[in-house]
Amino acid sequence: MTTGAAMTTRDLPTDLYLDGRWVPASDTGRFDVTDPSTGEIITSVADGTVDDARTAVDAADRAAAGWAQTPPRQRAEVLRRTFELMTDRAEQLARLITAENGKALADARGEVAYAAEFFRWYSEEAVRASGTVQTAPSGANRILVVPQPVGICVLVTPWNFPAAMATRKIGPALAAGCTMVLKPASDTPLTALAIAAILDEAGVPPGTVNVLPARRSGAVVSAMLHDPRVRKLSFTGSTEVGRVLLKEAADHVVNTSMELGGNAPFLVFADTDLDAAVDAAMVAKMRNGGEACTAANRFYVESPIAAEFAARLGSRMAALHVGPGLDERSQLGPLINEPAVDKVATLVDDAVAAGAQLVTGGARIDRPGSYFQPTVLADVPPDAAILGTEIFGPVAPVVAFDAEDEAIRLANATEYGLVSYVHTGDLARGLRVGEALESGMVGINRGVVSDPAAPFGGVKESGIGREGGHDGMLDYLEPKYLAVDW
Ligand code: NAD
Repeated sequence: MTTGAAMTTRDLPTDLYLDGRWVPASDTGRFDVTDPSTGEIITSVADGTVDDARTAVDAADRAAAGWAQTPPRQRAEVLRRTFELMTDRAEQLARLITAENGKALADARGEVAYAAEFFRWYSEEAVRASGTVQTAPSGANRILVVPQPVGICVLVTPWNFPAAMATRKIGPALAAGCTMVLKPASDTPLTALAIAAILDEAGVPPGTVNVLPARRSGAVVSAMLHDPRVRKLSFTGSTEVGRVLLKEAADHVVNTSMELGGNAPFLVFADTDLDAAVDAAMVAKMRNGGEACTAANRFYVESPIAAEFAARLGSRMAALHVGPGLDERSQLGPLINEPAVDKVATLVDDAVAAGAQLVTGGARIDRPGSYFQPTVLADVPPDAAILGTEIFGPVAPVVAFDAEDEAIRLANATEYGLVSYVHTGDLARGLRVGEALESGMVGINRGVVSDPAAPFGGVKESGIGREGGHDGMLDYLEPKYLAVDW
């Protein structure tokens, strides 16, 4: 298997990265990593055990004091070197992401740039962890607040952005002075291991970042959350698994950050520039092939333009070139695996059976690998399962609405609250609707909100805490309060 001109599987790290060394799993177990564009095995990776998890936490514990005391400027320089190395290796990393995740190369290249940027941003933030000092209202003493690293972190990441979801946690945790164990998704462990090799080369001390692929993720993560030395869990993944981990974290009252699922509404008002709205819809829906927590999941379009919007979106979707991600012509690669295709197919079939009109697509693609046609559905009944479920695939359901308050009510009728999108020619309306939408982020006349400099995160069952921006580092710091008589 070749993941690109410059990298073959022989070059890839596939063991556990513990205490600055590459080691096999304690029981020598391994698991396969598969290319979703062909279904073929790329290579195998060491399968971390509960014993390995203890070894990882031991290493993070030994490294903790040294890294916390490393001058912020020095931590910043290590982060900056990591950014530069990642940028130098961008093409190799993009090809590796595509090989194990399936996404089109353009998406993978975009992900590497986004992922590397977290190291640059947090190299700049590492020296800005300031505290406060104030006089107590009584005048009797001073209130001094100094930020301290939260402690050993367990980081758990999904397969859909194998690089960015890891760096969005590692960057701020390193900047804050924490040590950590990363458990990447079992579908995509190779990218995380490649990033570990870069961190090692950039001079991150042994034990500071440990990477532990493990197929028995429940047992391995649970063991770490029940080790009293672990003080932080940062999880990105489904709300279903997030709920389980919140309960596990409760046993030792571990500090948690949760980046969970979404069900993003995309509102289009009749006063909008329709071409611009369709452009933004393509990005909001199809970035990462629809496999993004931020993916527009439901399109609510004002009645006078609903049919036209669906038709234009349908032509754009139908024109996409679908094929293996490593083929430069491909704009849409395969979904991550067959169960993902089954889920998308069932949602589409159910919507059509309930009365939705198929504008384009609607079926799996008959070729090796896990492909589904880019699909647009119009006149989707408001109670169709597809509007209440995270689709995670290239399918856009369109629903017409008549009034602004109706659109807001429909958009908010979900347990999720990650991101929403609003398209209108009236900025006052955009801001008014944006404030009324129950989500942590709102894109106004934009199809992308993700930015390493901005606080990314959800409300309701989409999560707790923020990643990115200055807030992202605060998630890894505890404010220590010193009452001082001076
Ligand atoms: P997932 O919840 O199945 O898995 C996420 C991670 O948790 C993986 O590393 C997995 O191995 C691990 N895991 C699974 N079960 C576990 C358990 N019982 N105990 C401990 N760890 C366990 O999610 P996924 O399918 O990898 O990713 C897709 C989901 O992630 C979608 O719901 C998507 O919306 C969400 N996501 C959210 C964000 C965000 O920032 N809010 C970003 C990307 C993805």
